[in-house]
Amino acid sequence: MKAAADAIIIIDDSGIIEQFNPAAERMFGFSQQEACGRNVSMLMPEPQRSQHDGYIASYLQTGEGKVIGSGREVTGLRKNGDSFPMALSVGEIRQPEGQRFVGIVRDLSEFRAAQQQVRHLEEQLLHADRLVILGELTAGIAHEINQPLTAIAAYADAGRTMIDRRVDTPREDMQSICERISEQSRRAAEVVQRLRKLVRSGTVSKTRQDIEKIINNVLLLFEYEIKNSKTDLHFKALCDLPPLYVDEVQIQQILVNLVKNSLDALSGAGVEDGAIAIQADLVDDEIVVSVSDNGPGVLTEDREKLFEAFFTTKPKGVGLGLSICKSIAAAHGGSLKFSAQEGGGSRFTLSLPLRSIG
Ligand code: ADP
Repeated sequence: MKAAADAIIIIDDSGIIEQFNPAAERMFGFSQQEACGRNVSMLMPEPQRSQHDGYIASYLQTGEGKVIGSGREVTGLRKNGDSFPMALSVGEIRQPEGQRFVGIVRDLSEFRAAQQQVRHLEEQLLHADRLVILGELTAGIAHEINQPLTAIAAYADAGRTMIDRRVDTPREDMQSICERISEQSRRAAEVVQRLRKLVRSGTVSKTRQDIEKIINNVLLLFEYEIKNSKTDLHFKALCDLPPLYVDEVQIQQILVNLVKNSLDALSGAGVEDGAIAIQADLVDDEIVVSVSDNGPGVLTEDREKLFEAFFTTKPKGVGLGLSICKSIAAAHGGSLKFSAQEGGGSRFTLSLPLRSIG
């Protein structure tokens, strides 16, 4: 008991401290002499302090207690008035001369501080990641926005010339010019809006999540579209999946993007019996979610450009989806990869480590 790293405190059935090991002295700041003979409630802040005698009495009466036999996280109070998170497990010793309780306490403050630090670093990392993508985007942005702007200027010039030359410029000609101008400005606005979404740093809020629940939510989002497109969308969990520590919204965003891309690929190629399969599995210490479709797949020469910002083969595509998805996966310590399916079709595989950080 003397050499133990955990604090070990033995109390009698009225809560009076009988033994207080050296680790307890270090943790709480009281010496053994100061602690022994006093009520253990002095080691806890209010409201537990006032309630503790009651807890023991009710346990002795009913045999039911919240901490006995099972560990839990509670708050401890040091001699200097600082409170700190601690893991407490309590065991019972029944002896003829009376009942005693042994409390084993581990100080969690350093652990919690480290967790906070990791979380902070992760947020910075995610932000840095976004900045890297932004750097990559700059060249693309110039091109993407310049194009509609040049077109707008050209249409406006054409309109002015027409008015200058003829007083009675046909109404339809002006209408058509105005329509083109508004179409081009909408295109520019769309690019800007997507970029805004990307830059908005937001705080990542990673919590324990059930990946099956996230996937089922994604399916719900597509319910209507799937019904109308007669595509088959299926999800299968290949084994029992443990919880993950992720930002729910961001992971959902990846999956929505992948399913949307598959739907686009199927409808773009006019596939009649379109099928999209989502599978989730546990491989080593990673949860692996794949989204596969029986669409046209990706041309060999395009495969390495897939995750580049602004790579798109769609007439109205922006080409940011996959690059954002990849950076979200990376910020979670995972990856997003493409593979071609046998017999055509695409498969995107998202791997997320189980290792819970923060
Ligand atoms: P966008 O959807 O705006 O084009 P993305 O980054 O999401 O941007 O996708 C980039 C390109 O990757 C698409 O234009 C398409 O050519 C290709 N792609 C993505 N998913 C699929 C898929 N499931 N099947 C075939 N091609 C795909």
